[in-house]
Amino acid sequence: MVSQELLEILRCPACVREKDGLLVLSRESWLVCQDCGRKYPIVDDIPIMLIDEGDKWVKTAVEALPVPPPSR
Ligand SMILES: [Zn+2]
Repeated sequence: MVSQELLEILRCPACVREKDGLLVLSRESWLVCQDCGRKYPIVDDIPIMLIDEGDKWVKTAVEALPVPPPSR
């Protein structure tokens, strides 16, 4: 599990400078940005907060995201 405290401080790295970049936890495995739709996988309890990684999933619907996310 990723701690609630960590989830509350994490923001989308692509959005945070100009917007909130708020992330919503989806199915315990993904963080979905409410501004740009990038999705960041949580692998081995570590959120992968890389813009390149978020880009890979931006067009994938939340329901279609693989659980567990593929490891890198
Ligand atoms: Zn974003």
